[in-house]
Amino acid sequence: MTTLFKKQTVVPITELEQSMLCQSDGNLRTKTLQEEFQSGVRWQKIPTRYMKISPGDLDKEIAYCKDKLKDRLLILGHHYQRQEVIKYADVTGDSYKLSKIASMESNKKWIVFCGVHFMAETADLLTGRKQNVILPNMTAGCSMADMAQFQDVSDAWTDLGTILNSDSLIPVTYMNSTASIKSICGKNNGIVCTSSNAEKAFEWSFNKGEKILFLPDQHLGRNTGLKIGIKDHEMVVWDPNMIMGGLSKKEIMSSKLILWKGHCSVHTRFTEDQIKNSRINDPEVNVIVHPECTREVVDASDYNGSTEYIIETINNADSNTTWAVGTEINLVKRLAENNPDKKVYCLDSMVCPCSTMYRIHPAYLLWVLEGLIAGFLINKIEVSDHDRKYSRIAVDRMLNL
Ligand code: SF4
Repeated sequence: MTTLFKKQTVVPITELEQSMLCQSDGNLRTKTLQEEFQSGVRWQKIPTRYMKISPGDLDKEIAYCKDKLKDRLLILGHHYQRQEVIKYADVTGDSYKLSKIASMESNKKWIVFCGVHFMAETADLLTGRKQNVILPNMTAGCSMADMAQFQDVSDAWTDLGTILNSDSLIPVTYMNSTASIKSICGKNNGIVCTSSNAEKAFEWSFNKGEKILFLPDQHLGRNTGLKIGIKDHEMVVWDPNMIMGGLSKKEIMSSKLILWKGHCSVHTRFTEDQIKNSRINDPEVNVIVHPECTREVVDASDYNGSTEYIIETINNADSNTTWAVGTEINLVKRLAENNPDKKVYCLDSMVCPCSTMYRIHPAYLLWVLEGLIAGFLINKIEVSDHDRKYSRIAVDRMLNL
């Protein structure tokens, strides 16, 4: 169905909250949930008792619950989680690594995913029916995933089908998308990718078709397209708020890569000027960034790659080297702590944690763990049978790359 009217642009609440959390003093210390709510955030409601528990008491109570549930519980912690949460993780990693680990731990009945919603969905896809995936705070979404809504992507797919032969267009979605978007890809000969295998996924797609629709991160899509030799003029951006994505028939016909207009509000904060300044301050600095950064930032850096790549590169670097890092602040701080023989700092002097990852306050973790002890399954993530079937197809294609 062709969109007839220009829609009103909606800025996800997660985007607005992102700027509210930025601080200049670098103090990321966890406060009581009540104090954190006072900064104006809109997080999931939780019983009042949890609002006032001090960080010290939360620490003791979580440790007690973890011990009680230990044989049946697996806590997964994404690298971007705050320190007061990641310390309880049985395993840490990026979204893909954590989901794979969840799929291998079939004896664990409860998998508490300290990350964001699409990650818990992916873990649910990859785990058995008898396992339960729990997200401690249901409002922990991802602003990038929120930028590709199911109806908008369905409409775009239909619109593009009026111009292109649908067999020639392969939908590719980044792991950072909802199960319903992954399902669209699975149903239409498409695939899922991560930032570490995006190039392979693009090559796989061009063996099957002539064009790619890449969702939802335009920057990862553009950076990957450039790496495999796609020219600037062969890439166009589809704006879901415009009629026909804001593109002419000619632009769509002559493109090879159609990029969804989405972005990560954390990684697009990094700029070329920050890189220039770090090089002025230290000509020997190594600049390493995530490919969700803009093309200009990736071009100006020395290294770029996935979260796991960034960690490995810095961990394996020579002593006395200096690293300016363009990724989420909690990970950068941990890298600095784990590499005392190197100088590691964030490219951005403002401290801006990912606002949605930040929603996993320890009080939410305690709430779901106490629920399990009392026999309640709070915040279970369950992908529908339809989306499970088709998104699994797209994920399996990636696993077979
Ligand atoms: S860092 Fe960016 S892509 Fe990752 S969860 Fe946060 S908003 Fe989403």
